[in-house]
Amino acid sequence: MTQDGEQEAAPPWDAARVNLTSNELAPGVFAVMPDDVFEKDHVATTAGFVIGERSVLVVESMLNGDLASQLIGLVRQVTSKPIRFLVNTSYHGDHAYGNYLFPDSTVVIQHPATKRYMEESFEDDRRFMISLMGKGKGIERVQARAADITVPDMISVDLGSRIVEVRHFGFAQTPWLLEGRHKETMTTLARVRDFLPEDATIIPGHGRPMRPADIEFPLRYLRELDSAVRTAIAEGRSIEATLEAVAMAHYGEYSLFDWAHNSVNVPAAFRHLQEPGGGVA
Ligand SMILES: [Zn+2]
Repeated sequence: MTQDGEQEAAPPWDAARVNLTSNELAPGVFAVMPDDVFEKDHVATTAGFVIGERSVLVVESMLNGDLASQLIGLVRQVTSKPIRFLVNTSYHGDHAYGNYLFPDSTVVIQHPATKRYMEESFEDDRRFMISLMGKGKGIERVQARAADITVPDMISVDLGSRIVEVRHFGFAQTPWLLEGRHKETMTTLARVRDFLPEDATIIPGHGRPMRPADIEFPLRYLRELDSAVRTAIAEGRSIEATLEAVAMAHYGEYSLFDWAHNSVNVPAAFRHLQEPGGGVA
């Protein structure tokens, strides 16, 4: 999978076959997950919504208009209150391309970097997403819609007798699909784990619900990756020799592991750790 617009591999999930279901975690607080979330380890985006006395806040808008409509339909099954706020946790298309389906009166909330990216790079991103997810999956019809409000740190929104805090903990991404910032991701994941009470339910961007303690697993992977790539660099290994030395096959049960680890994470960590200030002298 590359950024050059060529489709090389099967998509991680088929956008035309996603069936979203909602699950009430607490009164008026819903997780929205694909119905195969407990069967597979690479599934469509998760979302959620919170209902207050006056209005509704939705988290994520999904990859395309069809999935955004499914999500809005799930909200409408339980309330007719207006969707006043929509939060995108990422600039990735599968989290934010459905924004255009929400009413004009909905206030879109993003991190400033997400807004900037959507405004500056949307067409490049759309080409990349079509190459990743396939043609004819509704991505061609998406209209870019960036934030009305940006949140560098934290904002509280009042839905009527219910306050929702939208917090930015730092840069992070599901560790299997790094963008080459593994050290920042480690810091952010640890911050999230330490911030939440032990019995909190985490709905990740993809996959089944977690507890804060479950964050230890991706953190351990990232720590091992960091230390193994550092060692390889210190031993003067080339990128090819580093890939061989840092196989970390004990994580290999995840079906996209080979690709994520060897094509993305090791090369990205190798480059990053050799940059000035990257950690290896
Ligand atoms: Zn995603």
